[in-house]
Amino acid sequence: MLVQTIKTIVNKVFKPAKSTKGSVKRYSVSTHRIDKRSVSRNAIKVCEVLQQKGFDAYIVGGAVRDLMIGLEPKDFDVATNATPEQIRPLFRRARIIGRRFQLVHVVFGSEIIETSTFRAPAHAAQSTDDHGRILRDNDFGTHPQDAARRDFTINALYYNPVNEEVIDFHKGVPDLNKRVVRMIGDPQTRYREDPVRMLRAVRFAVKLNGTIEADSRQPIKAMADLIDNVPEARLFDEMLKLLTCGHALDCLKQLRTHGLHQGLLPLLDVVLEQPSGAAFVELALDRTDHRVRSGKPVSPSFLFASLLWQQVELRWREQVAKGEISLPALVSAADIVIEMQTKKLAINKRFTSDMRDIWFMQPRFERRVPRMIHRLIEQPRFRAAVDFLQLRAAAHEFDSLLAQWWMDLANASEDKRQDMLEELAKLPPSTQDRGPRKRRPRKRKPAQAETVQAETVQPIQTTLSL
Ligand code: ATP
Ligand code: MG
Repeated sequence: MLVQTIKTIVNKVFKPAKSTKGSVKRYSVSTHRIDKRSVSRNAIKVCEVLQQKGFDAYIVGGAVRDLMIGLEPKDFDVATNATPEQIRPLFRRARIIGRRFQLVHVVFGSEIIETSTFRAPAHAAQSTDDHGRILRDNDFGTHPQDAARRDFTINALYYNPVNEEVIDFHKGVPDLNKRVVRMIGDPQTRYREDPVRMLRAVRFAVKLNGTIEADSRQPIKAMADLIDNVPEARLFDEMLKLLTCGHALDCLKQLRTHGLHQGLLPLLDVVLEQPSGAAFVELALDRTDHRVRSGKPVSPSFLFASLLWQQVELRWREQVAKGEISLPALVSAADIVIEMQTKKLAINKRFTSDMRDIWFMQPRFERRVPRMIHRLIEQPRFRAAVDFLQLRAAAHEFDSLLAQWWMDLANASEDKRQDMLEELAKLPPSTQDRGPRKRRPRKRKPAQAETVQAETVQPIQTTLSL
């Protein structure tokens, strides 16, 4: 009798309570161990307000997954049975967004809590493309349906901040404990419906330092080509998430292992096959990963500028060697590379314009004419370009002392900058100081072309007193 009572108590404390329906499991705080203090107060507020009005409301998706394994969530999403029209009037600053599937952005200063109505899984009757990719999945649904339409079991956990319970419809908690990424439903069907899920499987497995469960992993290689049918902008969003998840380098390596890399970043494939290119890209990704992990922001333009730089530089050198003038050669190299890349993975125009700015400032760091430096400092992407220069210096592509001088200049106050520039002007000219370049005739003899290339692209030895 006593043993039975103890067993019952132990079960109550350490095991999930019996499900209310089907295989639903409810976990109390003693099991899921989410510290409510780590949860966004605004997300809690959204759930509380909705629940006070009689609706169901939970924090869902990546935030619950990350909280349960002690990672800091990137953002907090809420799922509810209230419709967008019912949600919006409950909050002072809330707007309905989206045409295809409407959801509500509840705004609290700089934090946005994305609040969406439970959705039903896609079904065959809904419109798909010729390859089975779902084009429309915008029906409201029940709570269990909302769980079933999510991608992986670890992403279908619902946290109720009011009673601090985690609801698990698909055995996500045991999978999370084992760091296993398992597709909900039939993996092949779900990849066909949305091929981006293959990239997501890789990203989560790397992020969790876990594995993709065998049945979810096995079809990926054969289905990898389906990625070709995904709209470019969607692919860009998902690749950006992958590159900024804090484990970009590992993710890219895993994409290759699963045969998913081909064509995604076409130029990156080429780069990774060249030893020097790989070193530069790995350095860039490693730095990005460090920034992400220490909570610093990462700029997509900087990231893509780094990933594609080796290709730009290669073409730039080639064209200069053929007799092109340095800057126009750089501009056309950038055009070619961006065009080739954009065919597959559309990099947003506002990013490509920043990337160009970052690249086009690089040759200007080799000049030491104060008047030109003044103009350079005023460029909006000056700071990013100086950061980029540090990367080139770390890859032994640019003189590291001179790169540091530019970094000091970027960090200096207005007065200090003036001093640095005056000091620069007083220095005797070195062989590298050629002043503003005049336009030269386009056609040149090969011997002359060699000189231009060496002067323009090679790192210069600074004579600055640094
Ligand atoms: P991260 O921490 O990287 O943001 P996340 O899990 O929150 O990871 P999101 O892309 O923000 O990923 O998506 C939020 C949630 O929406 C996911 O956890 C998942 O439940 C669901 N979801 C997102 N994309 C898909 C998809 N392609 N198919 C099915 N469900 C998806
Ligand atoms: Mg998220």
